[in-house]
Amino acid sequence: MIRCKICGKEGIIAERIGVCALCIKENRNNIFDEIKKVHQKSRKEFSLEPEVPKGKGITCKICANECSLEEGKSGFCGLRINERGKIMSVAGSRDKGILEWYFDPLPTNCVASWVCEGSKHYGKKNLAVFYEACSFNCLFCQNWHFREMNTERIKKLGCEGRLTPAEELANSTDNNTFCICYFGGDPTVQMPHALETSKIIRKNRKDIRICFETNGSMNQGLLKKAVTLCLESGGCIKFDLKAFDENLHYALCGVSNKRTLENFEFVGSHISKRREPPLLIASTLLVPGYISEDEVFNIASFIAKVDKTIPYSLLAFYPHFYMSDLPTTSRNYAMKAFAAARNAGLERIHLGNIHLLTN
Ligand code: SF4
Ligand code: SF4
Repeated sequence: MIRCKICGKEGIIAERIGVCALCIKENRNNIFDEIKKVHQKSRKEFSLEPEVPKGKGITCKICANECSLEEGKSGFCGLRINERGKIMSVAGSRDKGILEWYFDPLPTNCVASWVCEGSKHYGKKNLAVFYEACSFNCLFCQNWHFREMNTERIKKLGCEGRLTPAEELANSTDNNTFCICYFGGDPTVQMPHALETSKIIRKNRKDIRICFETNGSMNQGLLKKAVTLCLESGGCIKFDLKAFDENLHYALCGVSNKRTLENFEFVGSHISKRREPPLLIASTLLVPGYISEDEVFNIASFIAKVDKTIPYSLLAFYPHFYMSDLPTTSRNYAMKAFAAARNAGLERIHLGNIHLLTN
């Protein structure tokens, strides 16, 4: 137990943040100024831009951050740079991705496996594409190592020909590939690459499902194309809804959740086009001390307003990155969160990562 630096109450508090969820939500004592410094430090360690650039330069519209890039400056994701007055992609364009891919035998640990018949296809495989960049800066990031790919490092890999062309990734599928799932990091900032790869796959193989697992902060035009691909191929879009309260989201993830919520509603407006397998799935990581059962209730109420049949997966948390001093999710807390989601009106709820639950 740690004492909150502002209200003085004891609770589960990450030492690097130093304050409780309530003080964050109310932005007491202008705590954002302090939290901003924590995010900046976490990014400087990896030579990434300390915050979303809002200079006088050209605006990149790939994601909600809409970075304004001055000459020679990189965007928040590290993938885009203003070179001689033009936005260039060091990766994430249609022809080159910074990623790792591997085959995951089905049934996978996919967050949607409990509502997808893919889990019944023993012997088939999921092509898992881990995109190594992100539009968020979550202090609890479960895959923080991708941050080692900053602009300079990716540029160097590009010169050495070590980025992955969309064609090469598409050709990695084989007759046993049931689905391809883009995740990361996050596919958001490399959507042009994911869409191009999917387009090539769809030309040759209409039977492969195309799925995205994302923080949902992409440009809506790109998301629209992803929705079409998922609907046509039988795949789905899995939205990670990290917090409902915007202040809390900003504190934990370094950016607002406004676009994510808008995009969730946008995909939600398409779900009647195909009820099964579900087009849209939501998940939330149960971060002790920060994502309380009330927060889960608010997220679940938002989902239920879009459609109460949307599957919602609550995921047990493992301490990582800047919140590595937190405990894992307890069984008791997970059950309360589950009940809160049910009370909000959702009909399909699931507990994931149960092996991490503690008593
Ligand atoms: S993709 Fe997003 S984070 Fe990257 S430069 Fe563009 S707006 Fe910024
Ligand atoms: S088809 Fe999509 S939802 Fe089903 S297992 Fe594959 S990645 Fe997961």
